[in-house]
Amino acid sequence: MSVPILDASICYAPRMTTRSTILDIDFAALDERVVNWLREYVRIDTTNPPGDVSLAADWVEQALRAGGVTTTRIGRSPAKANVVATIGDGDSARSLILAHHMDVVPAVATDWTVTPFGGEVRDGFVWGRGTLDMKAFGVITMVCVLALKEAGVPLSRPVRILATADEEVGGIDGAKWLAENHFDDVRGEFLLTEGSFARAGPRATYYAVQVAEKGVTTAKLTARGQPGHASAPREDNAVVRLARAIARIGDYRSPPAALGLARRYLSAFPASALRLPAGKAVDDLTDIEMEALLHELSGGARIQHMLRNTFSPTMVNAGQGQNVIPATAEAYVDCRLVPGVTPDDLHEELVRVIDDPAVEIEFVKSSVGTESSSDSELFTAIRDAVLSERPEAIVVPYLTSGGTDCKHFRPRGITCYGHIPFELNDPELERIHGIDERVSLENLQRALRVLMRVVVNVCTPEKAY
Ligand SMILES: [Zn+2]
Repeated sequence: MSVPILDASICYAPRMTTRSTILDIDFAALDERVVNWLREYVRIDTTNPPGDVSLAADWVEQALRAGGVTTTRIGRSPAKANVVATIGDGDSARSLILAHHMDVVPAVATDWTVTPFGGEVRDGFVWGRGTLDMKAFGVITMVCVLALKEAGVPLSRPVRILATADEEVGGIDGAKWLAENHFDDVRGEFLLTEGSFARAGPRATYYAVQVAEKGVTTAKLTARGQPGHASAPREDNAVVRLARAIARIGDYRSPPAALGLARRYLSAFPASALRLPAGKAVDDLTDIEMEALLHELSGGARIQHMLRNTFSPTMVNAGQGQNVIPATAEAYVDCRLVPGVTPDDLHEELVRVIDDPAVEIEFVKSSVGTESSSDSELFTAIRDAVLSERPEAIVVPYLTSGGTDCKHFRPRGITCYGHIPFELNDPELERIHGIDERVSLENLQRALRVLMRVVVNVCTPEKAY
């Protein structure tokens, strides 16, 4: 696909002071630019695998350079390009990094009602693979930063745009590779990327800011026993042993391990939303009560899993003949670990639950959870920015069970949050990695305003709220 030609003309407001930045910007022009750019960006097919983002990187660089911003391209190969651009002088270690990944998951065109890589605008939405996950956020960050640059807003700390490859396959040649090999080129104090959205819950609209994510470990269980003819049943049958182990894991409920985070999350809600019995505070709740409350507040979403490690058996493999007892039987278990739980802790927990030394446990893939403090200038800025646009909303720290690029940068000391300020309900959320992914024009407009306020709040001497 050829690289789209960018429309270089846009109406920026005249130079302004920081205090009036937000009010003076010509948002109508910027909103139009966001939609047009998103349509172009979606049309660049960056399906991963294979995850060739070279044309997307061309497009990002061209858009930024047209606005007078210098870009740098870093990658292990031309296909796995990463783009970084810094606006503003000053200590780069203090930068605010606005990060997005350019790759997207596959889309089966026959399942969709629109062309997945068409960038169609219909019914008040921009449709296409990668709109929510996460090209729209990428476009918004670029439009926001270019507008501030054009307006001549003085920056008290640099702002960085970071566009990465390979997020959908664990950041192998993207964020992981950058953090390990080019950290000095991408470092900063704060990083904002995907990780969570705003949700209209039954009791409140809450903007969940991902401050922590679970580790993902795949455990391989191998049960061993004496092989033999099926006509002579054996007590040490490997299949039976494995089945017993899986059943124990299925029945098991890990003890709560993220109580502090869950309490901070619940404490962010007003008492009217929590509806606690008179005289009872969040600190008084048992873990069972907290879990029930989390479940209620989220309208049944997966939020209750933020309290504890979870285990899901996913694959089973045993036997070659219907009348042969096999010597081994194996299964895979997807384990999600709250921050602070180590692989050794997990191993101990699984040994205890399975309670059978004839079942071996091996980790074929392992990552630990990561967490950033929610007590930071960036968190405060996000909360203030959201409340300026949505005074009735609640901004809460959040733990996700899925991974983002944050997991590669948190261990390097960057305070990382995952938040895209789109208000989404469950059916809209299911389109991510699903069919007919789309983002509403209303969400694009609100998110641009929120992000603009966040950047002004964190990167200029004055505040935008
Ligand atoms: Zn994503």
